[in-house]
Amino acid sequence: MNVSVVLFTSDLRLHDHPPLRAASAGGRAVVPLFVRDRAVDAAGFAAPNRLAFLADCLRDLDTGLRERGGRLVVRSGDVVEEVCRVAGEAGADEVHLAADVSRYAQRREERLRHALEAAGVRLRVHDAVTSAVAPGAVAPAGSDHFAVFTPYFRRWTRERQRDVLGAPRVVRVPDGVGSERLPVNEGVSQGLAAGGEREGRARLAAWLRRGISAYEDRHDDLAGDATSRLSPHLHFGTLSPVELVRRARRTGGAGAEAFVRQLAWRDFHRQVLAARPHAADADYRPRHDRWRTERTAHGDIEAWREGRTGYPVVDAAMRQLRHEGWMHNRGRLLTASFLTKTLYVDWRIGARHFLDLLVDGDVANNQLNWQWVAGTGTDTRPNRVLNPLTQARRFDPDGAYVRRWVPELAGIEGPAVHQPWKLRGADRGAVGYPEPVIELSEGLARFREARGLG
Ligand code: FAD
Repeated sequence: MNVSVVLFTSDLRLHDHPPLRAASAGGRAVVPLFVRDRAVDAAGFAAPNRLAFLADCLRDLDTGLRERGGRLVVRSGDVVEEVCRVAGEAGADEVHLAADVSRYAQRREERLRHALEAAGVRLRVHDAVTSAVAPGAVAPAGSDHFAVFTPYFRRWTRERQRDVLGAPRVVRVPDGVGSERLPVNEGVSQGLAAGGEREGRARLAAWLRRGISAYEDRHDDLAGDATSRLSPHLHFGTLSPVELVRRARRTGGAGAEAFVRQLAWRDFHRQVLAARPHAADADYRPRHDRWRTERTAHGDIEAWREGRTGYPVVDAAMRQLRHEGWMHNRGRLLTASFLTKTLYVDWRIGARHFLDLLVDGDVANNQLNWQWVAGTGTDTRPNRVLNPLTQARRFDPDGAYVRRWVPELAGIEGPAVHQPWKLRGADRGAVGYPEPVIELSEGLARFREARGLG
C-alpha cells in the first residue's frame, strides 16, 4: 500500500507542514482529511465566529490542494471512527497528525493510536507543527514543564528550530474517497476577520514589512491597534509558528524581538497545558478563592459581558470583543482583571464568555491567560490588580479607543471620557451611559480580604 491519510486539525495550511511532507514522501498518494468532530460541538467549543473563520480556512485549503492536483476530504462525526473509515476506504497504511496540547487533543491521539493499531494502520505524530518549540522539548531539571516564563524563555530562545518547509508542488489524492460539502462562512460578529492560509500569509507579509518594527513601542496602544492580529491564524494553523519565529528573527530589531517573545508566551502556555491538561478548568495554583459566580453576581456579570460596567475602557474592550470577535491584548488583561479581581467573579465565567466570542479562542492561551490574570496561574505577582482608570490613562491617554467603541461617549473630548461620572448633571444624563457597577476601592478591599492580604 502506498497511501497515507493526513488528518488536518489546528494546522490548516500547505506551507511548512511536516505531516503532509512526510505523508507524500516518495510519491505516495495522500488523503488530506478534515473531520468536523461532533465532540467539539458537544463540548460547546464550536463558537459561531470560529466556525466562520474555519469555513474560510477549509475552502482555502481545498483551493490550494486543487491547484496541486488534489482536494480536501471533509467528513463529520466521531473523529476516530471517521479517520479509520477513510483509511479503510483509501487502503491507507499510515495516518499523519500534528501533536497538540489540550486534553481533547491528547485523548484524540490516544484513541486514534488504539483504533488504528487494531486496524493495522500506523499513526505518525509530528511535533513543532502547532508550536514553534514542542512542549516537553525544553524542561527544567526535575519537572515536566516550566511554571515561570522567564527561565522558559531563556531555554526556548536557545532551542534550535527545524527548517521551514515549502508547500508541496503536487498532491496526489486517490480516487473513491467521498467528501461532504465544504462548510460556508456564516459569520456572526460584523467585524470578523477573514480566514485561510492565503489571507494569513498576506497579513504576515504586510506585518513584517510595515508593522513589526514599531511593535515594541506601540503594542500596548489600545487605539493604535498596532499588533499583528495573527492570533486566529496561529490558532487555526494557517500560519506556521516555526516560520513566524524564523521570519521575524530575520527581520531583526527591537520590534521583532518583542514580537518573538510573545510567540514564546504562546508556546509557554501550551507546554503548561500539555503537562497539566486539567488547568483548562481547574486552578493551576489554588488560592482558596471563594469566587462569586453566576448565581451570586448575576447583574455584575451581565454588565461586564454587555460592556455596561460604567468603566469606559472596560466597556470599550468588551464591545470590541462582541463586534470583532477579537480584543486587544491590553483590553483582555484589564477586562479580565476587572472581572476576577474588582468584581471577584470566578475566572471560568470570563474565560467561557471569551471562548464563546473570540475568533482566536484557544484553550491553552485563553484559559492560562485568564488564570495568569486571576492569580491562580503562572503570574509571579498573583495579587496585583489592574486599576481601569490607571490603565486607561496609560494605554488610551486621549480616550480615542473609548470613543471608537462606546458611542454614548463619542462626544466627550480628551481623557475626560474615562470618567463620565465627573460630568455635570445635565451632560451626564444626556449621554445615557451607566453609573459604575462598583466603587474601585470597594472591589479592592473585598479582593484583599478574600485573599487574606489584610
Ligand atoms: P500580537 O501582539 O501581534 O502577538 C503575536 C502572537 O503572539 C499572538 O497572535 C499570539 O499567538 C501570541 N501572543 C501574544 N500575546 C500573548 C499572550 N499574552 N499569551 C500567549 N500568547 C500571546 N490569545 C489567543 O491566541 N487566544 C486566546 O483565546 C487568548 N485569550 C486571552 C485571554 C486573556 C484574558 C488574555 C489576557 C490574553 C489572551 N490571549 C489569547 C493572548 C493575547 O491577548 C492574544 O494572543 C493577542 O491579543 C492576539 O492579538 P495579536 O495576534 O495581534 O497579538
